[in-house]
Amino acid sequence: MIRAIDLHKRFGELAVLRGVSLEVARGEVVAVIGPSGSGKSTLLRCLIHLETIERGAIEIEGRPLVSTDAHGHCHYLPEAEIRQLCGRMGMVFQHFNLFPHLTVLQNLIEAPVTVKGLSRDAVLPLAEELLRKVGLFDKRDNYPSRLSGGQKQRVAIARALAMQPDILLFDEPTSALDPELTGEVLRTMRALAEEHMTMVVVTHEMGFAREVASRVVFMDGGQVVEAGTPQQLFGAPQQPRTRAFLTQLL
Ligand code: ADP
Ligand code: MG
Repeated sequence: MIRAIDLHKRFGELAVLRGVSLEVARGEVVAVIGPSGSGKSTLLRCLIHLETIERGAIEIEGRPLVSTDAHGHCHYLPEAEIRQLCGRMGMVFQHFNLFPHLTVLQNLIEAPVTVKGLSRDAVLPLAEELLRKVGLFDKRDNYPSRLSGGQKQRVAIARALAMQPDILLFDEPTSALDPELTGEVLRTMRALAEEHMTMVVVTHEMGFAREVASRVVFMDGGQVVEAGTPQQLFGAPQQPRTRAFLTQLL
């Protein structure tokens, strides 16, 4: 579903991605872990084209979003095709990013109507079904300001699903939540994983990574230091930097 090869990205002098490669197969849940500043968010943002890369290649569902020629020049698809391709992916952010002036239901309906050109009536049944699925049907006419953090994040997940993506990217979806609210969001994500949704999840929730992820990727300093099954990565980490990171979490 995703093939990223040797991605390079800098912000000014700072090399943030230094040759990152990542492959995600259909139905896989890949957890990306690593210290703050290691480039995890930037990686997700490059995959969904919220940032551009300077070198490397990204394929989404077998189609090249960007490639690099023999002279080191990056070539992106034309803008309309990028939009179409990246529309196959949804993203859930740490800070929810809901539309504050729209109700919960309107938050779900907005993008399918404006981006896909569907009618409100055509989107309504799916939007309502998704709100039932995340347990927030009774909140459909509330504004986001009236919801708890956990409820906001479940709305954000339902909103991403309303675009019927093939892949969901999560950037620390529980990091902004009070500890007692993380469970409801992780349960929603776990249910998606059980339905074989393809997911890339940047997270500090090691329990989730251990139990739900098919593969765990450890990043540090803009590179993938180590990747493997949860058993391999948590049970027998091979790299000193991985061991140091995991030890410090205990
Ligand atoms: P992580 O998500 O692993 O914490 P990020 O990808 O957010 O790491 O950031 C990696 C590095 O890039 C950090 O040093 C961060 O300060 C820097 N960075 C991220 N976004 C920008 C930006 N838009 N402009 C400048 N520096 C940035
Ligand atoms: Mg981040």
